[in-house]
Amino acid sequence: MRTKIVAGNWKMHKNAEETEDLLNELINKLPNDKEVQIIVAPTFINLASAVEHLEFTNIGVAAQNMHQAENGAYTGEISADMLQSVGVNTVILGHSERRAYFGETDAIISFKVDTAIKHNMSVIFCFGEELKDRQDKQHFNIVENQLRDGLFHLDKTSWENIVLAYEPVWAIGTGETASPEQAQEMHEFIRETVRKSYGNDIADNVSILYGGSVKPDNAKEIFGKPDVDGGLIGGAALKADDFAAIINAI
Ligand code: PEP
Repeated sequence: MRTKIVAGNWKMHKNAEETEDLLNELINKLPNDKEVQIIVAPTFINLASAVEHLEFTNIGVAAQNMHQAENGAYTGEISADMLQSVGVNTVILGHSERRAYFGETDAIISFKVDTAIKHNMSVIFCFGEELKDRQDKQHFNIVENQLRDGLFHLDKTSWENIVLAYEPVWAIGTGETASPEQAQEMHEFIRETVRKSYGNDIADNVSILYGGSVKPDNAKEIFGKPDVDGGLIGGAALKADDFAAIINAI
């Protein structure tokens, strides 16, 4: 059975005190009786305190990014070992904001995936087309290429560490959501693309999350689609009530 997952990407929001406040709210408000893996991804400097804070809860912690090198002269960067040393074993890679604003290419992201796998970390691998790709009817090609270039060099065992997060760029932070039908159509395509290269076992067991303006009022319909296994949530993850409502929609 596929794992249902709801992950909150906090992006560059919340200082140390605000992080603690939101975590306390989440501890009080998030359900702990649902078959769903809950993850939050605060900023790098608040990861260690988040791990400590959430130690006896059902909420896991992920990093929003990491560098592909083991260590070295990479000013401002964070390695897999550093994340693991504070108890973080999950990392979001390939987010569209990393691709758009920080020049992360499929090749760089694939190196990052390799490093994470080498460290036996779980990867939430983000990908998705831009508006123009969809208007040009290239969205399936783009998504297939991102998958191939980022992940399809992996061996079968490594897929145990992979969660896919389809995030159409035109729906991120815009209030514009893919319709449940558009999400299902793409998720099914993604699963079939994985199936062609890796077979039934991996295709049927990989969790595929949807991300892009998921809110309490649209989560149930999106999560109700058969190939949608949960969500990667941006804006709505910063409000405990909204994040709780989204989790309860699973
Ligand atoms: C995201 O940043 O991954 C995201 C899905 O953001 P939002 O929910 O705000 O669209």
